[in-house]
Parts: sequence; C-alpha cells; structure tokens
Amino acid sequence: MHSELTDVVRVPCKTCGSQLKFSADKQKLSCDYCGNTEDLPFTKTRLIENPLPFRLEKTQLTHAPTEEKRVYACRNCGAKTTINFDTPTVTCAFCGSKNVNPEAQKTRLIEPAGVLPFRISKEGALQRFKSWVGDDWFAPSDLKAGAMLDNLHGMYIPYWTFDARAYSDYEGEAGFYYYVPVQVRDANGRLVSQQQQRVRWEYRSGSHQAFYDDVLLMASKKLSAQERTVQEVSRYDMQAVVDYDPCFLLGWEAEVYSIDLTESVRKAEEQIRDRERSACAGQMGGDTQRGLRVNTRLTEQTFKHILLPLWICAYIYNGKTYRFLVNGQTGQVAGERPKSVWKIALVVGAFLLLVLLLYSLAKK
Ligand SMILES: [Zn+2]
Ligand SMILES: [Zn+2]
Repeated sequence: MHSELTDVVRVPCKTCGSQLKFSADKQKLSCDYCGNTEDLPFTKTRLIENPLPFRLEKTQLTHAPTEEKRVYACRNCGAKTTINFDTPTVTCAFCGSKNVNPEAQKTRLIEPAGVLPFRISKEGALQRFKSWVGDDWFAPSDLKAGAMLDNLHGMYIPYWTFDARAYSDYEGEAGFYYYVPVQVRDANGRLVSQQQQRVRWEYRSGSHQAFYDDVLLMASKKLSAQERTVQEVSRYDMQAVVDYDPCFLLGWEAEVYSIDLTESVRKAEEQIRDRERSACAGQMGGDTQRGLRVNTRLTEQTFKHILLPLWICAYIYNGKTYRFLVNGQTGQVAGERPKSVWKIALVVGAFLLLVLLLYSLAKK
C-alpha cells in the first residue's frame, strides 16, 4: 500500500473554511464560495541568479527523483486517489478540487526560485481564443464554448532562464554588387548590350558584444512536441516574476521540470552563438558574404529556475484533434485553427460564379 500524501498546502478561508485559490483577476487568494480574499507576498528577495557552471550535489536532494505513488485523500470530498509523488498539483478526480503538493519540487535538484502568477483567467483565455478563431474567415462558427472550457488547463510550466555576456570576433568577405555592360548574342544571332552582375569582395573583420538577458528554455518534456507553438506564445514580461510561493499554485496545475539544466545550458549557448553570428553578419555588411568565421566567448553566465503560466487546450473538431495555447500573462494565442469545409466551399463557389459571369459578359 502506498503511503498517504499528508503535506498538502492548505489555506482555508477565514470566513467559511473552504480552500482558497489564487485568482488571476484579483491577483490575490480568493474564496469561490464567499468571495473573501487574502493578499499574497509579491516579493523579489529570493530571485537570485545562480552562476554557471553550477555544481549539482545529489546530497542536496531531500527526496530522490522517484516513481513512487502516494495516496491523496481529498480534503473536499474525502475520495482517495493515487498520484505520482512528483506531481506538484493534485486535482481530485471526483470533485475537481485542486491542491498543491509541496513535496514534489523536492524531488528535483533545483527548486523554482520564481513564479510568474497567472493574469489571464479561464474565461479570459476562452475569450482570447474566440477572437483569435474569429479573425480567420474559415474558422467554423459551431465550436462549442462549454466543451472548450472543460478542456482548458491553466498550468505553470517549468522553465530555465539564462543570462550571459557574449564577446565575438569575426572575419570574412563582404561582397558588393556592381554591373558591367557586356555584348551577347540574342536568339537571332545579333549582338546586343546587356548589364551583367559582378561582385567586388572586400575583407572585413571586427568585434561585437552583447548581454543576453533571460534566454528562455522550456523544461517540460510533455510539451516538447508542441515546442514551436510554445515558442510563439512565450513572450513574457519577466519583470512580473516574483519569489516562488506554492500559494500561487493553489487552484491551478503545475509540473516539475523534466528537461535538466545541463541539456538546457547547451541549447541556450547554441541560441546565443546563433544570434551573435547574425549580429556579426549584419555588422560585416555587403550585398552578399562569404567565409564568415565567428569566434564567440561567453562570460557572466547565470541561470534561474522559474514557473511560467500557460493555458493549454486540446479539442476535437470533425474527428480531428486541434491544440492551442494561450499565454497566461499576456493572453497571446497560438495553435491550430480548424477550417470549415462548408465555408471554403462557399468561397470557391462564389469565385466560380464570378468567373462564369465575367466570361459570359466578355462573350457579348
Ligand atoms: Zn469563504
Ligand atoms: Zn474531491
């Protein structure tokens, strides 16, 4: 038998005793039943940058990464369910109430330093989605809003964020186009004058430096399949990140990281080197270039582990699954929009009619 999960975060309402939730609209803990609210500390005292390379000491772990299951007894309805020990938030399968398991973060070597609290509520996320679908003429008009609400999940996604200063030296050749008149024979064998493009090459070298602040690397394996869509909605205002407190997770879902620091550091460095290369190419100039060599050194490298808010939705339309995401802070939407076959047929039909009409007019 699995042992019971005992240490859930409980913040009961002072008026009626029910579990408080973090409200995206009020930016406070709020009671669903009596409307009572409680302030949360929006502090930034523990948001420190950790220097890289970072020494990971397995001994720092208070709970080893584990497949272990725990029994979760719902405080709301009393039903018992089995959950993975490393699940930061627990949703009761029977009554839907949500709780926070503070032990989950301790199964990872690095615990979150910061969290960006949700600003977009569930209704807000649905609204953003509706206007996003509405922008597209081909979107079907019969998407069921109710079904959509059930499929919307507000989840705190684990992220690594990196800072680094980059110094780059570059050299290469910048090419400048110029044109010379040449005599060529045309199809009839006559000599004609033509402008031909030539390139004047010029050796160039120089240096470039920049500070990269908050390069974001998503740390959830589950979302890697949708990584491009995730990137489309990952412009967050990082100034709003505050000290991590499990109370911000009350009423929401969350994940612990499943992509580790070492792998993400490598990806972040690659991104920075790519951006430096483009910056150097831009500085080198020319209409075209060849033999560009860039040597980039990185210093002052630091990282933080943070949680960022994201609305995740998968829905079925005409037997096909579509996914979309809504940034939980800014409301930016990205994903797949279904196209309505009926509306496309209407547009094609109207076009054919127009062609027919023009044709018959021209014949007269
Ligand atoms: Zn209450
Ligand atoms: Zn329950």
